[in-house]
Order: sequence, then C-alpha cells, then structure tokens
Amino acid sequence: MTLSLETLRREGDEFHQAISRELYLSGSGQKKTAELQAIYARFANVLSDEALDMVRELFRDSPADSEEHRSARILLEWQADARVSRELAELDEREIAWESSAIARVDDGRGIQYQQIAIEIANASDRDERLRLEKARATLVAKELAPLRQERFQREKDIVEGLDIAGSYNDTFTALSGVNLPSLVDECKAFLRDTQAMWDDVFAEVVRRDLDIDPREATRADALALMRAPAFDPYFPSKPMEEEVRRQVTDMGADATAKGRVIFDTGEREGKSSRAFCAPVRVPQEVYLVLRPHGGQSDYRTFLHELGHALHFANTRADYPFEYRWLGDNSITESYAMLFDHMLHLPGWLARYTELGAPRIPGFMRAAGFEELQFLRRYAAKLIYEHQLYGGDHSWESLPDVYVETLSAATSFRYDSADAFVDVDPRYYAARYLRAWQLQAVIGEALVERFDEDWFRNPRAGPYILDTLFAEGQRELAHELAERVASRPLSFAPLVRATESMLVSA
Ligand SMILES: [Zn+2]
Repeated sequence: MTLSLETLRREGDEFHQAISRELYLSGSGQKKTAELQAIYARFANVLSDEALDMVRELFRDSPADSEEHRSARILLEWQADARVSRELAELDEREIAWESSAIARVDDGRGIQYQQIAIEIANASDRDERLRLEKARATLVAKELAPLRQERFQREKDIVEGLDIAGSYNDTFTALSGVNLPSLVDECKAFLRDTQAMWDDVFAEVVRRDLDIDPREATRADALALMRAPAFDPYFPSKPMEEEVRRQVTDMGADATAKGRVIFDTGEREGKSSRAFCAPVRVPQEVYLVLRPHGGQSDYRTFLHELGHALHFANTRADYPFEYRWLGDNSITESYAMLFDHMLHLPGWLARYTELGAPRIPGFMRAAGFEELQFLRRYAAKLIYEHQLYGGDHSWESLPDVYVETLSAATSFRYDSADAFVDVDPRYYAARYLRAWQLQAVIGEALVERFDEDWFRNPRAGPYILDTLFAEGQRELAHELAERVASRPLSFAPLVRATESMLVSA
C-alpha cells in the first residue's frame, strides 16, 4: 500500500490526539500511568519508513519558497523527532525509573530522595546545609545519572545523523527547524557581552543583600535558594487567581474559555499533577488546562503561561492542515505562553489583578528584572554549550569542563561538572525558548504601539491577538511572524530594553 499525504495527515492527527488524551488523563489523575507504547504500536503506519521516505522526498523535490516545502519541512522535522522519541523511549523510561527511586547520601548519613533534593536545597536557609545537600546531589548524579544521559545524547546524535537529511546533527537541526543555529549562537555571545556590566552590578548587590555571602563564592545551589525567595508570595493568593486572570482576559475583549473549547480542570483529584499544564487533545476543539492552585508568584506565572498555550491551540484555524495546527516552530506557542506570563512584568497588570499594591511594585519589578536577566543569561549560555555538545568537536570527556566554564561565566554562579549531560534540553529546546523570548518582546512592544501601555485591558487587543496571531497556529517561523506583525527582525534588543527598565525601577 502506498501512503498518501492525506492519509498521513489524518492518521498523524489521530495519533497526536491519542497521545495527548493519554497524557491529559494520566497527568490529571484520571489514569494511573500513560500507556504510550500501545499508541505507538497502533499508529505504526505514521512512523513507518514509508512515511519518512515520502516526506523526505517532498522536502527535497518542492521549490524552496513554496507552501509545499513549508509543509514538508514541518512534517519531516516531526518524523525525525518522533523517531528519536520512539527509539529512545526505553532509555527515557530507565531514566524516569531511576529518578523515582534514587537516594542521595549526605555526609552525615542521611538519605534523601533524588526527586526531593532540589526543593530541599532551594529551601535550605542555612548555607552549610545547602552546600552539604548539593554535594550529595552532585555525587549521585555524576555516578549514576550522567552516564545514562551521555549515552542518550550519543544515540540521539547517531539516529539524527543517520536520517540522511544533512551531514551533521547541527546542520540537520538548522535544515529542519528553519532556525539559523550558528547565527543564534553568535547573538547569544553578543547578548552576554552587552549585558555583562548590567549583570555584574545587580548580581553583586542581590547576592550580598539576600544571601549575605561574598559574590565570588556563590554557587548554583545558592541561585536555587535565591530564586525561591517567597517575599512577594502573600500578594499572589491562590483563591482569586483563576477569577482575576479570567477577568483580565475578558477586559481584553477575549474569552478565557474560547467559547468552551478550553476546559478548566481545577478540581482536587488524587494523583493529579501539582504543576499546571495544557493538553490540546483536539486542536482547536478540545483543549484542557489542568490546574491545582496553590498560590504564590510562580503559580501565577505557570497558570498564565499554560493559559497562553491553551488559548493559542483553541483559537487556531480549524481549516488548517494537521501540520500547522499540531506541529511547526514551538518558538511560536512558547512566545504566546511567555506573552501571558510576562504580564507579571507589567506594573499596571500587577496593580489591577494582584494584591501587590502600588508601594511594593518597584521592588517587585527590580527582583523580577534580576530573575529575568539571570534566566536569559543562563539560557544563552546553555545554547552556546549545547551547540558544542551536539557539534562533536569536543570529546565527551572534555565537555564537563566546557559546561562549567560557560555556565559559570554567564551566570556568575559556580556550576558543577556533574550536570554537564543532565542540565541539557534535548533537541535544542533552549533555541525555541530563546527565540520565543525574543518574539514575546517584539509582540509586547507592538501591542504597546497599537493599544498603549495597558493593552492587556484594551477590548480591541484580545480580538487582534486571536485573529492576527493565534489563528495562524504554528504555520510560520518565529522570525517570519516578527516581520509580519512588527516589521522588525527577531533580536535580543527589545529584551535588553525591557530588562533595563525593570532594573532601574526601584
Ligand atoms: Zn511552555
């Protein structure tokens, strides 16, 4: 039987619906485990060699600027990713099993569950205790998790390079994603240089004040404790969160449920994930936003982020082909999620929909600016490092030193070599995040130009966001979208401007 493009689209859609429904049911506590292997088996056609051959041929034979080529690129990237996922499924399962059973041994004899230890490190207010816990964690990771992960990346590289799309892993990524990886790496290096002085200033001040240590001694464990700071949490209460955010979406002239297509799953249920997540079971008709409100700044951020994803999927054009509704450049959906979670950086939004109150807003903004710059610099460094990890110019043995040097220099927190293969987002998800960050800032500036500073409560802004942005699914690449809506290229410049203005606000 010859597979047609139409059949592949139809079965691909059904396959994604089945996977997403399974993840929704298990994540929301309605099923004990997600049984994904059975779904892979049922849709073997979708990930067959025949399917890969067909889309690879379409990709090669279609004119570079055509809609067919765009579709074929997205479908080929999907085929490549899905193959990697399927072939690494067993390794991933081994890793998950390890994570749920591993115990870190502290010097004084205590045993702490691996899954618990990062939280304990972040919560340890006594620094000696924090460093003891971190040493136990790093020792365990270096011995048991790092070798598993190193094997995983080696195999991923082999699988991708065997797909016969481009010579190397990095060239294959650039060809399939449409992201110019070498130039993004250069932008990251320039961003780190351009924000160095601003970072040095705020870093020394915050570390001395909040941790009371010599900034030169700060480690990544200290960073975890610093970011955990609960000082503002009382002003982000759990009870009114959902209602206030829905009110804001209504003020913006949109519907937080997208006429019922977004289903809020907010009830308490045993086995339900404590972290909010979005499961697009049918795009755009049936999108779940699973939530278990517990309050605090990070809960608001996660809820807003997942709501951005949910409204994006639920407002995608129903008549678009499978690949534009389900697949494509994830920088797009991540930028919409970030557009929503970055409302926490708008003083007007904070004043109106939280209990922070005007006098606390400047202090909050400066703290948020510190956090934002720390995460941006960390992600820029991650991408620079991951480019070397996948590039193959360094031996596996020499990568931990490269990791420590790159991440420590960018963040000013000392990183541990144990994490060189653990603190890595497979398949360059860091590139998606960085471009999403850039796009979010471009869209944010464009919304201010069109609808003023308080665009988030301008009844014309919501319909514009839904019709101009969300409806397009992920048909476009992030830089194409920036050109279309703001006539400007994607860059770090608007992010630097936004961060600067947050840091001077106290
Ligand atoms: Zn996201």
